[in-house]
Amino acid sequence: MEDTVAQGAPVELLRTALPDGVVVTDPAVVEGYRHDWSRLPDAGWPVAVVRAESAAHVQTAVRWAAEHRVPVTVRGAGTSLAGGATAVDGCLLLSTERMTAIEIDPVDRTAVVGPGALNAAVKDAAAAHGLWYPPDPGSFRISSIGGNVATNAGGICCVKYGVTTDYVQGIDVVLADGRLITLGGRTVKDVAGLPLLKLFVGSEGTLGVITRVVLRLVPQPHPAGTLVAYFDTPRDAARAVVAMGSRVRPSMLELMDSASINAVEDLRAMGLDRDAGALLVGQSDAPGGARAGELAVMTECCEAAGATTVFATDDPVEGDLFLEARRAVGPAIEVRGAALHEDICVPVHQLPTAMARIEEIAATFQVEIPVFAHAGDGNLHPVIVHRPGDEEGRARALQAFDAVLQVALECGGTITGEHGVGRTKRAALLDQLDADVMDVGRRVRSALDPLGILNPGVLW
Ligand SMILES: Cc1cc2nc3c(=O)[nH]c(=O)nc-3n(C[C@H](O)[C@H](O)[C@H](O)COP(=O)(O)OP(=O)(O)OC[C@H]3O[C@@H](n4cnc5c(N)ncnc54)[C@H](O)[C@@H]3O)c2cc1C
Repeated sequence: MEDTVAQGAPVELLRTALPDGVVVTDPAVVEGYRHDWSRLPDAGWPVAVVRAESAAHVQTAVRWAAEHRVPVTVRGAGTSLAGGATAVDGCLLLSTERMTAIEIDPVDRTAVVGPGALNAAVKDAAAAHGLWYPPDPGSFRISSIGGNVATNAGGICCVKYGVTTDYVQGIDVVLADGRLITLGGRTVKDVAGLPLLKLFVGSEGTLGVITRVVLRLVPQPHPAGTLVAYFDTPRDAARAVVAMGSRVRPSMLELMDSASINAVEDLRAMGLDRDAGALLVGQSDAPGGARAGELAVMTECCEAAGATTVFATDDPVEGDLFLEARRAVGPAIEVRGAALHEDICVPVHQLPTAMARIEEIAATFQVEIPVFAHAGDGNLHPVIVHRPGDEEGRARALQAFDAVLQVALECGGTITGEHGVGRTKRAALLDQLDADVMDVGRRVRSALDPLGILNPGVLW
């Protein structure tokens, strides 16, 4: 794509085609859109930012980009930890942040949502009708539904309630040539034609720009009871998770290692045990007496795996405190330095092995790798921390990053469970997917975007 970018693309033509304020070229404003949360050092400079207010604006922008061979970087709220929304040089940065409409239909149990609406706003709107939108990435207060759909975002409640795609009933998408298509809709069931809807969920902005989403809502869950267990080592905690696998279905099962616990305590004292090797926080929202039964089984598994302290509480305030501590880990670790975020996922029985291998990698490359995990899914977040400006340290951190991706594959898992491939895991994608699968993927992408204008550099 870069070879064919028109020099001096006529941004003024685009500006006159869209209402005042939609097209922005002021460098001070553009600067705020170049990076996503991954803060990649090689982020490029867009020729302009389009803050679209409607699908029609998106169509106009994409048609202009196609005509002038300008790459389009699609952006929701910019919380990508994989560089998926990082600008490339000369791109049109297409932001959906202004498309925030939310309409709830309590009878059909759907939410029709603009892609820029924040996940938390959808949850709140659903709750006002006694309904629930389950997917809850740690970023739910700051990430958009469009971004969640484009990455098929996961989160804390996936262990029982599934991931974003399980709640996407319909989407509108602007294709690379500017056409707008509607896939799926307001019915729970729809098997007409090829299941193209699911092709776009998780496509990371490479197949089209999502301009409207129909989300499935469900009744509110029962109140949860919380289990808290401390261990001497993360491997012991991982063994407890494995033991629970065949016996109980928690609504949440999260793990923090010692470095994660201490990062949170450094940021905000929350009373966590700084001396523990690992902390497991689990919840059960089973109805009635079944909840106590599930918490008892979880307790038993923790004790058998050598937990040093285990307690359970039905107090929602106390439970929320531990949940907040878990949600604080990512930002708390970032305070310690520059961070390379991983989201490998392994079969649950491989959790202890993966934890042990990551410890070895930290020692080999002499880097700090705090690990926290959606443990019930086998989804680990090792975060490789290095000092900003220390080039030699960054080089070691990048080597450790690659080594962790290989651990996922050795364990029969995946290089990305929820953040997406983005720019940071492109090379390792070739290690995971065989040549025929890559070929099919490339052919789908080029069929939908023959000019290669959508999110070049993302995925491959
Ligand atoms: C503190 C923190 C915690 C996090 N926890 C989790 C977690 O638990 N689980 C999880 O899955 N992720 C998590 N993330 C990662 C991130 O929040 C998710 O990937 C999220 O889905 C991105 O949403 P966004 O709106 O910020 O999208 P962006 O970062 O703007 O974009 C992400 C990708 O989606 C594409 N995209 C965005 N909008 C559209 C659209 N309308 N049409 C087509 N493509 C689009 C972009 O091009 C890019 O490739 C976390 C991030 C942070 C900072």
